[in-house]
Amino acid sequence: MSSSQSSKFSVKNPYGSIDNSFKTKRENSSEFEYRFSGIKCKCDIESPCQEAWKEGTLDPGRKIFGCSRYKDPSKRCNFFLWVDPPYSERARDVIKGLKMKNMKKDEEIHKGVVEYNFVDKKMLVLHEQCKSLEKKNDELVELLQKKERKVFKYKFLFILVLVWFMMKLFN
Ligand SMILES: [Zn+2]
Repeated sequence: MSSSQSSKFSVKNPYGSIDNSFKTKRENSSEFEYRFSGIKCKCDIESPCQEAWKEGTLDPGRKIFGCSRYKDPSKRCNFFLWVDPPYSERARDVIKGLKMKNMKKDEEIHKGVVEYNFVDKKMLVLHEQCKSLEKKNDELVELLQKKERKVFKYKFLFILVLVWFMMKLFN
């Protein structure tokens, strides 16, 4: 298929009252740009083409036209028009499997984050303990230096007295 070739999608309209003929243009091998001639919802507003990603959607990513006021339950109408055909059972199984795998990965990531936070907290406590031990060590070193100075003083005095005594003795 050439890049500009257009193809007509056949879609099912559950309401049957809206003209559902529109054309798609293939942009590249994985993307479609939807071209349509004024598909409007029951509110008479142009309907945006979106992908269904709601939790619990049977066919996630399936393209759909819906009411542009879909975010406001008090104003939106119940118009919807599927663009893509429903997925096959095989595709649904594959998506289910991928979702399960994704959930497991999410759980593993969550576990990793919890473990990281736990280790981080422990590191913080150890860091605090280390700081307190360093402070105590500094205090002890200072005390030891004081005592060494005192011992040196006494030794010096003792030698002086000894010298004085010897001098007295031999004189
Ligand atoms: Zn509407």
